[in-house]
Amino acid sequence: MEKYKTFIGLEIHVQLKTKSKMFCRCDANYREDAPNSHCCPICLGLPGALPFPNQKAIESVLKMGLALNCQINEYSHFSRKNYFYPDLPKGYQITQYDKPFCHDGKFNFNSHEIGITRIHLEEDTAKSIHTGQETLLDFNKSGIPLMELVTEPDFHDAETVFTFAKKIRQLVRYLEISDGDMEKGMLRIEPNISIKKKDEKGLPLYKVEIKNLNSFSALFKAVQYEIDRQKAIIENHKIPIQETRGWDDLKRETFSQRSKEEAHDYLYFPEPDIPPIHIVKSKKENGNIILEDLKRKLPELPEAKIYRFQKDYQLTLYDAEILCEEKELAAYFEKAAEGNSHLGKKIANWIITEILSNLNENFSLKDLKIKPSQIVEIISLIEKNEISQTSGKEILKALILKVGEVSEYIKKHHFEKVSDSTILDKVSDKIISENPKPVSDYKSGKVNALQFLIGQVMKETKGTADIKKVREILETKLKNK
Ligand code: ZN
Ligand code: MN
Repeated sequence: MEKYKTFIGLEIHVQLKTKSKMFCRCDANYREDAPNSHCCPICLGLPGALPFPNQKAIESVLKMGLALNCQINEYSHFSRKNYFYPDLPKGYQITQYDKPFCHDGKFNFNSHEIGITRIHLEEDTAKSIHTGQETLLDFNKSGIPLMELVTEPDFHDAETVFTFAKKIRQLVRYLEISDGDMEKGMLRIEPNISIKKKDEKGLPLYKVEIKNLNSFSALFKAVQYEIDRQKAIIENHKIPIQETRGWDDLKRETFSQRSKEEAHDYLYFPEPDIPPIHIVKSKKENGNIILEDLKRKLPELPEAKIYRFQKDYQLTLYDAEILCEEKELAAYFEKAAEGNSHLGKKIANWIITEILSNLNENFSLKDLKIKPSQIVEIISLIEKNEISQTSGKEILKALILKVGEVSEYIKKHHFEKVSDSTILDKVSDKIISENPKPVSDYKSGKVNALQFLIGQVMKETKGTADIKKVREILETKLKNK
């Protein structure tokens, strides 16, 4: 039995997708542009500049809070977190402290329940570029709205952390509040990990935080590495030190960055330049933001959709999760499956095996030319035995990237199913006379040889033959031979 218990909590920062920055009117779409081309006195933190909050960013955080079953504070305010760093030259970050917008939520997925401690809103800092000789500062990122989500230490293994992180990205994309691209720093995940012996009471007395993870696979590997590292230390009757560690993707190990982490005294106090924000439940009350309006704007959330797809279209959890990975794909599937729920499982299979397998490498969902109704058309023709499975796949492949009609394609390529016995008779005779070895194999009891002969007939007829009929004809012919 496992002697240890692992505790993992997450701190997740998400850059919100807004037109302008958090506290000024600078264009928030900065990634392609020259350094320091998206700044003003407010996001440069010049003395005397007055910040004014971005409503869309606040609404985005509240949507996330509603999606994660959080409590929403009726009165919320921003606070100053005082510290100096070159990427934060005004000497404090505008963030939230005692009154975050959202707190005490929970997220249920795949029979896990993860507690959400808080979700608050703050401003991103500038970007430091260390050249070796000097440090350059780019203020384009300074003041980008940043949502911070903190979880309870409810994770106990790397797999669940990995799945949760992916589901958070999926959720912000469904809510359209962020693109959640980890490689671009839009989604930054910092796990903290600690371990204790199973018989010890309470939480471990230390924790180790890992910074600078820029992909989901790095997150998974770093957490797994850290669990193993800490277990080995405890096994040696020592206690791991409380510290911040980085992840080296090449060496595949974590390394110490800062130890003896002291509890900083940030001297938090309410931001005096921004009035408190009053969030009310309904229009009847007087407030800055009305929750019932936001609730109405929420889309169907991924977990609900996954559940419904299984129920309405007889999908497995696996199929439903793949189809719901992106909202657009789920909508595409549903356009095909709606009103054809008896074909739901088949439509799912075709989308997953014939379309998605090509999608990742070569093209994206946006490029898809085949209409959902055409997938249904192809499947129905196969069901009615009018074309073969092989022809169906070929038509689908041809129409994935090129606009066209299914019926035209069938005519042009003579895909109408051959079930005409005279034709199949002739082809079968030909295959039997050309393949004496498999024929004698079959006759001496090797039943697999029949499969080969059927395959040859299918090949000869370019997949248009009715496979059931071919089997019957071959069996009869071989028996009488
Ligand atoms: Zn600005
Ligand atoms: Mn933060």
